[in-house]
Amino acid sequence: MKAITLLGSTGSIGTQTLDIVEHHPDKFRIVGLAAGSNVGMLAQQVRQFRPEIIAIGNEAKLAELKDALSNLDYTPIIVAGAQGTIEVASYGDAESVVTGIVGCAGLLPTIAAIKAGKDIALANKETLIAGGPVVLPLVEEYGVKLLPADSEHSAIFQCLQGVPAGGLRRIILTASGGAFRDLPAEKLASVTIADALKHPNWSMGQKITIDSATLMNKGLEVIEAHYLFGVDYDNIDIVVHPQSIIHSLIEVQDTSVLAQLGWPDMRLPLLYALSWPDRIQTDWKKFDLVTAGDLTFRAPDREKYPCINLAYAAGRAGGSMPAVLNGANEQAVALFLDEKIHFLDIPKLIEKVCDKHRNDFTATPSLDDILAADLWARQMVLEFSQ
Ligand code: NAD
Ligand code: MG
Repeated sequence: MKAITLLGSTGSIGTQTLDIVEHHPDKFRIVGLAAGSNVGMLAQQVRQFRPEIIAIGNEAKLAELKDALSNLDYTPIIVAGAQGTIEVASYGDAESVVTGIVGCAGLLPTIAAIKAGKDIALANKETLIAGGPVVLPLVEEYGVKLLPADSEHSAIFQCLQGVPAGGLRRIILTASGGAFRDLPAEKLASVTIADALKHPNWSMGQKITIDSATLMNKGLEVIEAHYLFGVDYDNIDIVVHPQSIIHSLIEVQDTSVLAQLGWPDMRLPLLYALSWPDRIQTDWKKFDLVTAGDLTFRAPDREKYPCINLAYAAGRAGGSMPAVLNGANEQAVALFLDEKIHFLDIPKLIEKVCDKHRNDFTATPSLDDILAADLWARQMVLEFSQ
């Protein structure tokens, strides 16, 4: 029985993780739950999974949450705010923490979990992208495992099992292509929020769905892959694979290529991040090549999707630059979802902010430098978008 804590329990990653726990009560139990502001869903999850500690990120909702839990037949700890989320992340005997919070807001809770000796099932890629230079040394120092739950990185990690050290030569990340993959570039000027939120293959939270439409999600995943697997940017490629059946591939030194296949279902990478190195039997729909049908591939269009080059450039710069790229992207996506800017403004704003950051770039940032870079990038996007 593995004790786990779940951050972002009411989101797409959160609810799919709880689906796994619900169907494997003999394998997993929930120690802590943290969510942003959905009191109704969180309270229902508490009744079902009986965590020892609960956090609601939005402090203004604490009274409502306590009220919703007033007639529980046990007494969990109930906390709130950013500090409360950190408390949940580091609490008790949880062995593994699933990070399903969206954005850089997950950084401090993830660091707290690492310092409490907990393994990380990493869905919250923004945390590693912004905080790589401080997160990776902490993972080493505290001897915890950083297990990828992003589908592409899980695929790479699965392919790597059995590959000896030094055997990996190249990573090939697959991309669905996002909402606009079949739209001519000139039509991007008139797309709406609703259009951008229609992902062809995956049902996910709003932020990552917009990132998929700009292909920034794939750009962020290139940086995520660099930090997770230590591969040079020259050896991380992207291929568009509209069917999302091959979740990514690796090339080893002798040019053999290994791939991981399956239906697009996030529960599989989440389960593997929790069960590794074991394989747990499930009753999920079995994979079938004939039903999957034709698998096709094409090169990503880097002119139509400038976010790809922006992410490679920020990754290659390293240091504080990925934090700026990520912070600028988060703010630009928020403005787009708020109908304040246009879809094509997203890469333009990010590029301006990354360019400006060259003046006070830090090669070996501290945690404070990263938090400051994130905040600064957001402010710059707000200023440039006026
Ligand atoms: P989502 O918007 O559906 O859920 C986000 C969750 O985080 C919610 O429970 C929300 O309440 C909580 N949250 C947000 N801000 C918070 C804060 N400040 N404090 C505490 N809780 C907060 O997002 P999602 O699609 O589940 O994505 C979560 C993360 O997983 C993202 O980093 C995303 O890139 C990554 N990811 C998601 C998928 C997917 O299929 N959804 C796939 C790969 C990676
Ligand atoms: Mg992914």
